[in-house]
Amino acid sequence: MATGSHRAEAAPVQPARPPNIVLILCDDLGWGDLGCYGARGFHTPELDRMARQGTRFTSFYVAQAVCSASRAALLTGCYPNRLGIHGALGPNQKVGLHPDEATLADILKPQGYATAMIGKWHLGRPTPFLPLHHGFDSYFGLPYSNDMWPNHPEAAVGTYPRLPLLEGDRVLEEMPDQRLLTQRYTDRAVRFIAEQRGRPFFLYLAHSMPHVPLFASDRFAGRSRSGLYGDVVGELDWSTGRILATLRRLGLERDTLVIFTSDNGPWLSYGDHAGSSGPFREGKGTVFEGGVRVPCLMRWPGEIPAGRTVDTPLMTIDLLPTIARMAGATLPVRRIDGLDVWPLLAGWRGATNPHPAYYFYYNQGELQAVRSGDWKLLLPHISRTSPDGARAERGRPAAYLPMSVGLELYNVKRDPGETHDEAAQEPEVLGRLLGLAEDARNELGDALTHRRGKGVREAGLAP
Ligand code: MG
Repeated sequence: MATGSHRAEAAPVQPARPPNIVLILCDDLGWGDLGCYGARGFHTPELDRMARQGTRFTSFYVAQAVCSASRAALLTGCYPNRLGIHGALGPNQKVGLHPDEATLADILKPQGYATAMIGKWHLGRPTPFLPLHHGFDSYFGLPYSNDMWPNHPEAAVGTYPRLPLLEGDRVLEEMPDQRLLTQRYTDRAVRFIAEQRGRPFFLYLAHSMPHVPLFASDRFAGRSRSGLYGDVVGELDWSTGRILATLRRLGLERDTLVIFTSDNGPWLSYGDHAGSSGPFREGKGTVFEGGVRVPCLMRWPGEIPAGRTVDTPLMTIDLLPTIARMAGATLPVRRIDGLDVWPLLAGWRGATNPHPAYYFYYNQGELQAVRSGDWKLLLPHISRTSPDGARAERGRPAAYLPMSVGLELYNVKRDPGETHDEAAQEPEVLGRLLGLAEDARNELGDALTHRRGKGVREAGLAP
């Protein structure tokens, strides 16, 4: 298994100065929720323009189809299993991203970067795990999901405390008006960018939307033809446009890599309050393509080709080592899983993905799927489906039903909807992917087979 950090043999990028990094992460935005990915019923003109000015990735994966685990992978370049972070952390849990894990902010800071985090954190609520303790100079946002509040449609009374909005480590407000979150985050983002002229910066803007409960400001509410979900995505589109306009106004476009993506697929049981996974099967909380394949746009004029579409698989774990090379930053001391994929981003002829496979864990560390080349192996496990999702009403979800998944093999290039199991017809492919799964178990463990991986570390635990 080609885990571990290494620099690719390719010649290094040599920008005149390290690029600014703007990483925009949406919450539960589906693959099919942008105009440039085929969205219907609402428009995303700013993001569609960003796609034309940059590269659109159509096989971009998150490491786990749920908030905390996905974000841990994004920021550290590690599979969540390696970090001991599983699923979504609750507000009262004592667990968080271990202080010794190095985040993107941690590795960029020694290169002179100003670092800011705005929005949803969700890597541990106790103070030792908050953004200021993971390399960020400033923080403004919700420490976890916006539905972890007393108004949750299903949770028993007393499950969730009043929702805090944090400034640094401090609670600035309780139960902030969620209609204003996207605007307030955007204002902060624009202000941060404008303040950093002359100094490289890393902005991690993690929107709370379009995770339920959905909220849009008055300017966007009722504007789309497809209800509140379309309104909310419209506001996220506006937000991204404002950030790109700010970079343009300040003459920073050619010095700034902007990445726009999502933490997992749509939460389908919420019906018309959920997005679309496009042509893919299922959504959030599953290892099917609809759960783990997300939209991803990258724009860096002069460095990343404009108007290009890349279908080669990539995963969020690759962002840290790739950005590290751009910035001349040192990779984390602790072993990571991501690899430098700059040649794929830069559009070098013949560039390929350096990983033999990507692995998908879920449910407290169960290895449930492997993608290698055009093939995807599903390992036997219990998943979930929501056949009545369409009947969810006004933010009240329909029920999930357990769904038994067997040993299944799909060619996701030919069959992106994972409809035609070829396990019986392709014994050699099946054997190869089962071997890769075994490699992953040795290194990262597997709760399904009660294996503890030799490369697994502990999550942080607050006293
Ligand atoms: Mg999410």
